[in-house]
Amino acid sequence: AGTALLTPVDVRALCTALNIRPTKTLGQNFVHDGGTVRKIVREAGVGPGDKVLEIGPGLGSLTLALLESGAYVSAVEIDAALAVALPDTVARRHSAPENFALLHADALSITGPEQLACPPALRTGQTGAAATGTVTASTGDPGSTQPFAPTALVANLPYNVAVPVLLTLMEALPSLETITVMVQLEVADRLAAAPGSRTYGVPSVKAAWYGSATRGAKISRHVFYPEPNVDSALVHLRLRPAPGNDDLRERVFTVIDAAFAQRRKTLRSALGSWAGSPAAAETILQRAGVSPQARGETLTIDDYVRIVQARELPN
Ligand code: SAM
Repeated sequence: AGTALLTPVDVRALCTALNIRPTKTLGQNFVHDGGTVRKIVREAGVGPGDKVLEIGPGLGSLTLALLESGAYVSAVEIDAALAVALPDTVARRHSAPENFALLHADALSITGPEQLACPPALRTGQTGAAATGTVTASTGDPGSTQPFAPTALVANLPYNVAVPVLLTLMEALPSLETITVMVQLEVADRLAAAPGSRTYGVPSVKAAWYGSATRGAKISRHVFYPEPNVDSALVHLRLRPAPGNDDLRERVFTVIDAAFAQRRKTLRSALGSWAGSPAAAETILQRAGVSPQARGETLTIDDYVRIVQARELPN
């Protein structure tokens, strides 16, 4: 009984057996250290019965540690060869493979819980332990048409799409309460940056729409195969109810993009074309209680919400 985590030898052997040559384009750096994946699971605080979404399970290093904690895991993997192999790896190395389900798809295409694969153990109206398998995004699987509403997202994200994946999923899956992901160190710092700091940027303020982020531990590049040429760190997000509906979010994100597109300029000038003119921007900013001479990088998400609302006030 139990779980056999992947060792460095296992990771290399699986790559050879499956004829997988890790690619940079898909950010394929596989963790081969049991201590690291257990640490991620601990920092995420997930345990028995929790519903966890994992993006990019790869060979299954983190997946197995999540399953070991007693959580239900629904994973989304873009690479067909990895997606086909993973259910078998889980079945051979974990004593409750029915707690796992996999969707072969691009995480950026997820628009809601109904698209995710539901682990057989959670499916109603079925008896016995259904076999786990790969669900393809295009054909679906009659056995897994049930939605899966995760409360936690835990992942070692592909570096080049980490921020878009996070923003997509926070928008698509309102059931999420916490996110614990490993990303490139600079991205972790950006996501957790405070207004006014050097690293505060568009990802920081957009992520703040959904919740608050804190930087976790740095992760050595030696725990990966192949070793990436950047450093990694954990970032933890505690989500909150959004400050407004999707429509308000879009308008707020538009003004954030405008403010940061000309980061060095004052808001009066950077928001000139958004408002119609620098003078109109100044009026809106004053109504919102924001100095027209301030720069976008000093504002909180709540300031941006007030700016959008101030523009819509009757004159
Ligand atoms: N979780 C594994 C681990 O810790 O060893 C692998 C992590 S690796 C950094 C990133 C994984 O994400 C790879 O398996 C890659 O194929 C997958 N991936 C890349 N882009 C993706 C996308 N848009 N949607 C889903 N998975 C993706």
